[in-house]
Amino acid sequence: MDIEVIESKKGLLRFLLSGADPAFANSIRRTILQGVPVMAVNEIEVVSNDSVISDEILAHRLGQLPLTTPEGYLLPSECDCIEGRCANCSVSLTLMKEGPAVVSAKDLDSSDPEVRPAQEEAPIVRLGEGQELELTAIARLGYGKEHPNWQPAIASYKYMPIIEIDQEARDDWEDCIEACPKGILKEDDGELIVTDLKECTMCEACSDACPDAIKVEGDPSKFIFRIESTGSFSSTEVVKKALEVLKEKFDSFSEQVEKF
Ligand code: SF4
Repeated sequence: MDIEVIESKKGLLRFLLSGADPAFANSIRRTILQGVPVMAVNEIEVVSNDSVISDEILAHRLGQLPLTTPEGYLLPSECDCIEGRCANCSVSLTLMKEGPAVVSAKDLDSSDPEVRPAQEEAPIVRLGEGQELELTAIARLGYGKEHPNWQPAIASYKYMPIIEIDQEARDDWEDCIEACPKGILKEDDGELIVTDLKECTMCEACSDACPDAIKVEGDPSKFIFRIESTGSFSSTEVVKKALEVLKEKFDSFSEQVEKF
């Protein structure tokens, strides 16, 4: 098994995983989406809300704000406290604002500076003249399998394309080249070549335009992953955490099997 980083920048990681199979690739994808715990607001206490949006919609908006997530917090189910409101398993973010103003994520004052909105400019609501908003939002750890608000990233993959070209089939490649929406086909010394195979979406527009010369397939042992972090962790951290979760599960399974 091999990994080659294609692109790594703030919030985005693309890599090629080789020598794997679809079940393994999908287990990584699903663990990223559903099995890495992150902080998100899942309760609000409203003191006053004169804005045009209701408390319920406000709760949705606050729940969708990605929060930075340090190590050390407990899931509410792991904590000894009764209400899930202690400093080990929750963080309070208070908000007090008077209009006219646009309330944004940076107006939330967190009880833990390490748990704060990852995108501080994200707007929450606009307040008109004389309107007030005062509330406390409570953030807790949770899993994407419970609610997408706890999803740390968007994770997807595609097979590495295989494009077979019969160079003898044609003298003129113009139709095939024009059919490609990604612009990655070109003629070089009378032959059709693919300039960047990883950018191919396997749309098959080229093989539809030139069925006599081009065949497009996916390689089920190579996967191009795309991980876009919401901002709770970096994309690289999301992948590492997902692999830790998978490892713990397999270690636990292995221990159980040893007892057979
Ligand atoms: S499959 Fe689609 S993206 Fe890939 S080379 Fe053909 S036309 Fe271009």
